[in-house]
Amino acid sequence: MHPIPDIASDFRADLHCHTTCSDGSLEPRAVIDLALSIGLQGLSITDHDTVAAYEESISYAREKKLYLGTGVEFSCNFEARSVHVLGYDFCLEDFSFLSYCKRQQEKRLVRNRLILEKLHRLKIFIEESELFLSFQEQASTLGRPHIAAAMVRKGYVKSIAEAFQLYLGDHKSCYVAGEPFPVLEAVEILHQAGGKAFIAHPHMYADAAFVRRVLDVPFDGIECYYGKTSPDVVRRWKKVAEKRNLLMSGGSDFHGEAKPYVSLGGAWVSQDVFFRIFEKNLIV
Ligand code: AMP
Ligand code: ZN
Ligand code: FE
Ligand code: FE
Repeated sequence: MHPIPDIASDFRADLHCHTTCSDGSLEPRAVIDLALSIGLQGLSITDHDTVAAYEESISYAREKKLYLGTGVEFSCNFEARSVHVLGYDFCLEDFSFLSYCKRQQEKRLVRNRLILEKLHRLKIFIEESELFLSFQEQASTLGRPHIAAAMVRKGYVKSIAEAFQLYLGDHKSCYVAGEPFPVLEAVEILHQAGGKAFIAHPHMYADAAFVRRVLDVPFDGIECYYGKTSPDVVRRWKKVAEKRNLLMSGGSDFHGEAKPYVSLGGAWVSQDVFFRIFEKNLIV
């Protein structure tokens, strides 16, 4: 365990953001620069299904004196509904963890193809080779934002938001749920890699009873602070976390241009929470 450093009381850490390695618009170093420029002292990069961002981020964060905790976000399934799992403080080199990331990425390729087929039927012609965001040539993880960006580039829609609204959003005409892995498997893989598993943005799921059932999976914590959720919602999830003796995390879900209305640092955790979550795999 790291000794908790004696640092400023205004310590803030954003534990949820995405880079060009998945569907964010800023490269890992640019996210770190932005974090420092807005006064954050800690960060966890939680790209979808990949830890590729850490390759360049480790030395850069050290150089710039930013506390960086390992992170990832997986899209999973519970009772046939989508649930996102955030992983923290796992070992970046764990073999089972890395092969799980690979399996998640492969699943996405299959799902992307099915979405492209549905679009094709509506005379929207996008090739797999065209799936990149305007600000990146290649990401480890490809998903709906990359399909949306191709639709914008080819003039089928005016914006990424419109592509989601008309075609790609949950349960719209070209939506494909895919066959995500169960929540329990992601949680177990994270534990095996020495990490902790958190349920992401719980307010986004169907209802509180559903979340309570999801929380019967051995999670370590709940993402209580998220983007611009209202104080009431934050209070509700903090209460659930306290009752179940779970950790409380928080972050903005920053994506850059892909979600221009979300700012880095919009939600954050304090120093004691940060060091309670990142006990083993913290980059300092
Ligand atoms: P996927 O991982 O392929 O299911 O795509 C989900 C991702 O799409 C989310 O993490 C967001 O980055 C992005 N997304 C979801 N809804 C929207 C939306 N309405 N507008 C823009 N981006 C969105
Ligand atoms: Zn995303
Ligand atoms: Fe998410
Ligand atoms: Fe996210």
